[in-house]
Amino acid sequence: MRDRGWIEIDHRALRHNVKLIRRTIGASRLLAVVKADGYGHGAGEVARTLLAAGAYGLAVASVEEALALREAGIEGFLLVMGYTPREAVADVMARGISVALLDGDHGRELEEAARVQVEEGSPPLAVHLKVDTGMSRLGVLPEGTAGEAVALLASSPYLKWEGTFTHLARADEADPGPTNHQLHRFQAFLQSLRQRGLHPGLIHAANTGAALRFQKARFDAVRVGIGLYGYMPSPDLFHPGLKPVMAVKSRLVQVKKLPPGTPVSYGGTYVTQGEEWVGVVPLGYAEGIPRLLSNRGAFLWRGQRVPIRGRVCMNLTVVGLPQEGRRGDEVVLLGKQGEDVLHAWEWASWAETIPYEILTGFGGRLPRYHVGKEEEGGS
Ligand SMILES: *Cc1c(COP(=O)(O)O)cnc(C)c1O
Repeated sequence: MRDRGWIEIDHRALRHNVKLIRRTIGASRLLAVVKADGYGHGAGEVARTLLAAGAYGLAVASVEEALALREAGIEGFLLVMGYTPREAVADVMARGISVALLDGDHGRELEEAARVQVEEGSPPLAVHLKVDTGMSRLGVLPEGTAGEAVALLASSPYLKWEGTFTHLARADEADPGPTNHQLHRFQAFLQSLRQRGLHPGLIHAANTGAALRFQKARFDAVRVGIGLYGYMPSPDLFHPGLKPVMAVKSRLVQVKKLPPGTPVSYGGTYVTQGEEWVGVVPLGYAEGIPRLLSNRGAFLWRGQRVPIRGRVCMNLTVVGLPQEGRRGDEVVLLGKQGEDVLHAWEWASWAETIPYEILTGFGGRLPRYHVGKEEEGGS
């Protein structure tokens, strides 16, 4: 292996997670969230496997991501959950991409651009109304600014009201109160639409936390991201069935024995006690190892946990070895080696963050190898 470090993406685990999640959500449809390059796993490659395994469609954050998926030949339902500017409307309509409508003003921008395309023979722009029930980020307030957007959707021949959705801010917490409150606001809003004879289309609200934990959050579809990649949204929630998809590996590039009292790495924040063996891993924070793992985290070497000694550098990290090792020994940063395994949630707790940031932090920085794809005979 000539790479300093590499990522393995296990498509068998992806398929397993899709099946498990689909079994949990019952009749609700699975929208697979592949934003941020598929949470660092490679959006195009994972999208293909997710759709083949039974995901109904895909969701991304931006128009750029949606167009890149179409460019890669990915067909089917595809939703941009973030802001779509009017300049992008012709492209998204030409490629059959659905977009979020954030408020009345945004709706008029989209409509104006869509009219030009419809007059040239295109079907109307498919939009999903975003309702802000408590995240205070994107969308209309159900008891406030929604009126303008709803009136536009109800009357415009250039917009197709394909769906209505909200996003839950606290579905990963033990207390169901805040989530129930958001769901209640969303339901009341949907009810008011129906009472006026309006058709809000495909209804969706749940992220991973809600899809797996709140039956009444499932509606017509769920938007699941982190669960597909094998993790729950918070380090305190554990799901026994999900399988991590990403592994990160490297090899020692140098091994040496240090005398007692030797400071290690920048700042000398670790000092050897006795004679100690150390190994050098040729990856650092520029490749996705958070600097907060300095003197805190561990990797796997010969099936054992080896602690990070001193500060993580830009492209190098020193680990303490229990005995002499060799240049070229494989080191596992994330994933399994021997009987032990390192998960992104463990990294997340070392780095005071969430598994999402660990996974996306490795995205795009190391070569990625996809294993267990269906056409290669994986099961
Ligand atoms: C990222 C995202 C999701 C998926 O969240 P997970 O916690 O990864 O399942 C769902 N909906 C929206 C609007 C998102 O931005």
